[in-house]
Amino acid sequence: MTRPIASLSMDLDNQWAYLRAAGREDWAQRPGYLPQVIDRIVDVLGDSQLPLTVFVVGRDLSDDDVGRSNIDAIESFDRLADWEAANHSLNHLPWMHTMDQEQIVSEIETTHQRIAQSLGRRPLGFRGPGFSCPDSVLRVLSELDYAYDASIFPTSIAPIARMAFLIKSDLKGEQRERAKKLYGGFSSLRQPNRPFLRTIDDSQLWEMPVTVMPWTRTPIHFSYFTYLASFSTLAAKTYFRTAIRLCRMTGTPPSLLLHPPDFLGSEDDHDMSYFPAMNMAVKDKLAIVRWALELYAETFDVRTMIGQLRDSVAGVDERIGGPNRDADHPSLPSHAGHRATADSSGFVATDHD
Ligand SMILES: [Zn+2]
Repeated sequence: MTRPIASLSMDLDNQWAYLRAAGREDWAQRPGYLPQVIDRIVDVLGDSQLPLTVFVVGRDLSDDDVGRSNIDAIESFDRLADWEAANHSLNHLPWMHTMDQEQIVSEIETTHQRIAQSLGRRPLGFRGPGFSCPDSVLRVLSELDYAYDASIFPTSIAPIARMAFLIKSDLKGEQRERAKKLYGGFSSLRQPNRPFLRTIDDSQLWEMPVTVMPWTRTPIHFSYFTYLASFSTLAAKTYFRTAIRLCRMTGTPPSLLLHPPDFLGSEDDHDMSYFPAMNMAVKDKLAIVRWALELYAETFDVRTMIGQLRDSVAGVDERIGGPNRDADHPSLPSHAGHRATADSSGFVATDHD
């Protein structure tokens, strides 16, 4: 029996992004964890021969010693079967929906250029921090000829997640007001739980949501899974198995999401100890993540996100070329009037609004 196509991605959020979100004033001075955590990620994924789309934050690719050691670490994703470098904004500010156009362009373009220059890869996908994806962002992506946006998290618990974030963090005043719109608000529930085409002016690009549990719309990304596992391994495994089964039953092409803390545990940096599931020992956490990834790899033919898109939708390939093509040769066909078509892959080739 052939396995349906799926994808796996990671938001490469560095420690400073979590500390800033939690209201820590010294967030910019705290050391990052990318070299340490990427080593573990590559080990675990390598064992299951899994590929990965990595959403990189531009701020971490700075032109100094810290930036260079981050770049070295990110280049070790070369040890994976396949990987894709994608754009996760410059400063990881989770309120792009409140920015003016100039700031949105800078957030996306600066990171785009830094990835091309330091990693030699041309990003074709974007995920907004805090799952924010207004048309103003899509317009910039379309100008840059991106193939997809991945900023939708169509969960039923977005309002709860947002409330938990607000309770846990020390944000005040304007920052607090902005944070109230995190996770896409209540409208996230009306979004499809499968990839669909979005039209912006005269061009289109694919929206590839972070897959949630079919029907219940509860999260199945790994931070939620390891959070469940910190209470009960059995409950977490049952939940994940159900999610995988429902995706297959409903023909939902899954795109699952990892974060660096999924590979960190109680022996690691105390700065992160406030984070859910950080009370688990590293060994236990890696064991449960490994178990889930193996089940995912057995059930689905897992690709990078651009790989999933190219292999599921006819017409994408000639538009974008190969995902790892040399950044020095960005011969981009025009995106205007582009029309993609979907086969039986579970992608929806009609506009959704
Ligand atoms: Zn992020």
